[in-house]
Amino acid sequence: METPTAPNRPDAGLREQLDQLAAAQRYRRRRVQDGPQQPKAVLDGRPMLSFCSNDYLGLANHPEVIRALQRGAETWGVGSGSAHLVNGHSRAHHALEEALAAFTGRPRALLFSTGYMANLGVISALAGRGDKVLQDRLNHASLLDGAQLSRANLRRYPHADAAGLERQLNDSGARLIATDGVFSMDGDLAPLPELIPIARRAGAWLLVDDAHGLGVLGRGGRGTFDHFGLTPDDDCILMGTLGKALGTFGAFVAGSEELIETLIQRARSYVFTTASPPAVAEATRASLAIAEREDWRRERLQTLIARFRHGAEQLGLPIMDSPTPIQPLMAGSEAQALAWSRALEEAGILVGAIRPPTVPEGTARLRITFSATHRDEDLDRLLEALDRLSLSTQSTKDDHLD
Ligand SMILES: *Cc1c(COP(=O)(O)O)cnc(C)c1O
Repeated sequence: METPTAPNRPDAGLREQLDQLAAAQRYRRRRVQDGPQQPKAVLDGRPMLSFCSNDYLGLANHPEVIRALQRGAETWGVGSGSAHLVNGHSRAHHALEEALAAFTGRPRALLFSTGYMANLGVISALAGRGDKVLQDRLNHASLLDGAQLSRANLRRYPHADAAGLERQLNDSGARLIATDGVFSMDGDLAPLPELIPIARRAGAWLLVDDAHGLGVLGRGGRGTFDHFGLTPDDDCILMGTLGKALGTFGAFVAGSEELIETLIQRARSYVFTTASPPAVAEATRASLAIAEREDWRRERLQTLIARFRHGAEQLGLPIMDSPTPIQPLMAGSEAQALAWSRALEEAGILVGAIRPPTVPEGTARLRITFSATHRDEDLDRLLEALDRLSLSTQSTKDDHLD
């Protein structure tokens, strides 16, 4: 019998697409981490100095947080067993929600399994077909995907541009405006003092994704609102993640009683998923307490940022205008970003090359991130390596895959 030729096999074309990604220098590979998150990392068996983690405060491997997780597992076991609305909502989750509400100064907080799911859940619960959602052009993918899922009409306004937002609102109003608090690939801040009154006048929700501000900015690490001296009110929604500065896993949304109750009823990424392990909630309560009380971690970050920026300026490196531990170096092309990152890797330094579609076309970059646990010597090593590299930025030919 003849084997049918299969023009319609579902995997036909995948190899071709993968080859196209590789040719465009956009192929991504995972590296295998052989130990906990810390500046002294071991990757693929090789010791490296890492500047690419979002563990800004150095809490992901903190002994108190580890102990809280262990004790949590002894008390609660591992799996939560079901969704929050069935019987997966433990006292551990509940206590963390109360701690997060108190920390953020909002009436309620609701845990989600991840930040990605929190953004999908909030936007699709509050906006629907026929509504308009306005978003900063550089927002995180999860905010954009949330708008897609909601079937609302999504429009993007120019980056951090309050006047640009206002022009789009004048055209057609909006149900919801969403912005990163700290932009994840640029490190700059949303102009919240301008955005809040604009959203209020338009009668729109303002959703602020503070994945990179929480723990890092503001008093006790309360985030971007607090950094600007703002107390968010009921038309502001705060989304925060727990897997970055807080060093654990998960996310939450903080806001009014009515908002949170609405999310519990309607956010599909909340309702239709298993609650995260309760022990993780216990670990997060421990890390939140450390983050809040240990100002030295934030001060240390500020010192590292200032020292890095000073050194980088002296070397003439292409730094961007960022006051946060996210310090990108603009490369432009994918090939340039990869060449830089590979040269650093050869020097034992790990810095991620960020390429489209994570960032817009023509803005590939190195994304350097600092942790409070980086030492002065670590920073010196980075600057020395960058110095050597800036002399050899021409050698971007013959790039192989990364
Ligand atoms: C990381 C990140 C998220 C997603 O959070 P996870 O908990 O990793 O799913 C959402 N928004 C921003 C801005 C982020 O950087």
